Amino acid sequence: MNTLHKEITTLNGTEKVAIHGLQIGRLAIKKSAMNAEQPGTISTLLSFRDKEFGDWLPIWAWVIVHPEGTFLIDTGLSSDVNQKGYFKELDFISKYYFEKQMKFDIKREEEIDQQLKKIGIETQSISKIILTHLHIDHTGGMKHFPNIPILVNETEWKTKDGAFPKLFPPNCNIQTVKLDSKYALFEQCHYLTKSKDLVMIPTPGHTRGHVSIGLISKEKTLYLFAGDVAYNYDRLLNQSFSATINNKTQNTASCKKILELAKTKSILFLPTHDEENIQRIKNNDKIKG
Ligand SMILES: [Zn+2]
Repeated sequence: MNTLHKEITTLNGTEKVAIHGLQIGRLAIKKSAMNAEQPGTISTLLSFRDKEFGDWLPIWAWVIVHPEGTFLIDTGLSSDVNQKGYFKELDFISKYYFEKQMKFDIKREEEIDQQLKKIGIETQSISKIILTHLHIDHTGGMKHFPNIPILVNETEWKTKDGAFPKLFPPNCNIQTVKLDSKYALFEQCHYLTKSKDLVMIPTPGHTRGHVSIGLISKEKTLYLFAGDVAYNYDRLLNQSFSATINNKTQNTASCKKILELAKTKSILFLPTHDEENIQRIKNNDKIKG
């Protein structure tokens, strides 16, 4: 399993912030679903005929150890997906989709609680969890954090595109967030720290309430934990999406806005499913705006 670690200085220049990337297993979807010309339900259904799976995609979750608290961005997948009957409560099509149209590779020791323990962080010491969106490979680890506040964009919680609340643990402490402040080109964001260096940024389209999380360093680099706005950097540049996204127009606009922001800000793009995240952090490769 892959991990990455990076230390940066806070925006106000006085303290350190540690970024830990933890790979929580991997998944694959059908090849034709990975690259759909026209995403949507029809493309998803047509991909059921495809025999071939696309490449394995890593699933990253992120821990930010910040002077104002320890934040976990997304919780990865649960190894319970391997158990027969995990999807039994879902409607027929969704159950079929997860059981036959997706492949999961995750072991118990790769789950978020075990990986946090390995880097010396107790699950109960997480101050807040922040979700980019509610898909199962981002919410699967919520069960390890009973009662810890889980921040979700209000729109995402209302719309629940492609979300399955039946799979959420009973004791998850969801707190919805209103996007109420401006950050750069984005009129409606939400600052997650008093020092205004951790910010929830709307990047809708993959789901209508999808957000990215930005961490701003002393050098004004924006570390953008971008969820599924694009599965990787190339797909951000080309605005290429999977069949399962909710709204292509919105998703295209979100990608273009990130590229527009990269003209004036130095952005390190860190989406959930990118093989190159480790390399990108190591080489300090910014988005070429
Ligand atoms: Zn997703």
